[in-house]
Amino acid sequence: MDFNIAVIKGDGIGPEIVDEAIKVLDKVAKVYGHKFNYTRVLMGGESIDACGSPLTDEAIATAKANDAVLMGSIGGNTKTSPWYQLPPQLRPEAGLLKLRKELGLFANIRPAWLYDELKEACPLKKEIADQGFDLVIMRELTGGLYFGVRGTNGEAGERKAFDTCEYSEAEIRRIAVKGFDIAMKRGRKLTCVDKANVLDTSRLWRKVVEEVAKEYPEVEYDFMLVDNAAMQLVRAPGQFDVILTENMFGDILSDEASEITGSIGMLPSASLKETSFGLYEPSHGSAPDIAGTGKANPLATILSAAMLLRYSLNLDKEADAVENAVKEVLKKGLRTVDIMSEGCSCLTCSEMGSAVASEI
Ligand code: NAD
Repeated sequence: MDFNIAVIKGDGIGPEIVDEAIKVLDKVAKVYGHKFNYTRVLMGGESIDACGSPLTDEAIATAKANDAVLMGSIGGNTKTSPWYQLPPQLRPEAGLLKLRKELGLFANIRPAWLYDELKEACPLKKEIADQGFDLVIMRELTGGLYFGVRGTNGEAGERKAFDTCEYSEAEIRRIAVKGFDIAMKRGRKLTCVDKANVLDTSRLWRKVVEEVAKEYPEVEYDFMLVDNAAMQLVRAPGQFDVILTENMFGDILSDEASEITGSIGMLPSASLKETSFGLYEPSHGSAPDIAGTGKANPLATILSAAMLLRYSLNLDKEADAVENAVKEVLKKGLRTVDIMSEGCSCLTCSEMGSAVASEI
């Protein structure tokens, strides 16, 4: 089958890691008889340099016209890059926020799992790491505190600031549906994380999630307060399958979940809307400190491409093939420098992409 994929290479290591993901997708196309048509879209620093803006209307229109967007990462060194002398709305990150908004992406999925081969990198106690974990955090992306009414007021000596958190029933329902849908594709367990002992928004989340849960009798679900969830993630992460939560709690918990895997270069992410369209990118940034050195780990981007195959193109078999190829490569002791350990072979970014492609 023919599929259209918009490609944002971005800045720093972005172009290097995206090239490797495309290498792997091309191998998938060859083996499974598909055709992937790629269209370049500029965003972030590369777009500022070429067009004077981090995201043009033309770029948004091109992204929308495709089945999905595959992205590397954007941004430069925030202390030294001239991009950060610009007003906030013209900096690289403004392009990504605008793109998410324009594409209507309201659900962010970040998986966190521990590969047997990388257990040594896990900062948790050995007895916890030995039990393993495989969870996803489903974070609401366009509502809550980050998008509420805000401001500063008061006066000298008594300055004040406020941010408000608001959620509508419809906003909660659409992400709850996505969360239960993903749980059906995984371990059929969902934990809604909130602060319902204090916040009205959390209490509304609980009511709506309970209503949506009625449509998914096969999914076991429960509720957990966010402070407890933060503790449970480091005490017993194996208990979680899908964690469903609002914007700010998800922001914090998904970084905590990344940290316990011990390897930021391994973590993919997806941002979805009601339809199958999505934006897929690694969870890490553009790592300007290692750009151009061949040290970048492309696996998070390759695994993001696997998520693209699964969630936007509905190609589960092909997604499994990519994920299994990554496991095989790790089993063979092939590593990039960030995940290197004794007795393994250290590959460059490009060699790692080729190694994964050759396993498909
Ligand atoms: P970062 O994730 O880019 O880097 C943190 C550390 O992890 C660095 O030491 C880096 O070398 C290493 N690292 C990251 N990805 C790696 C990979 N694939 N392989 C090997 N090592 C890797 O975070 P940062 O340094 O705080 O940010 C750098 C830039 O990235 C900033 O401009 C920031 O705004 C941007 N950023 C972009 C995104 C995005 O595009 N979605 C996300 C986060 C940060």
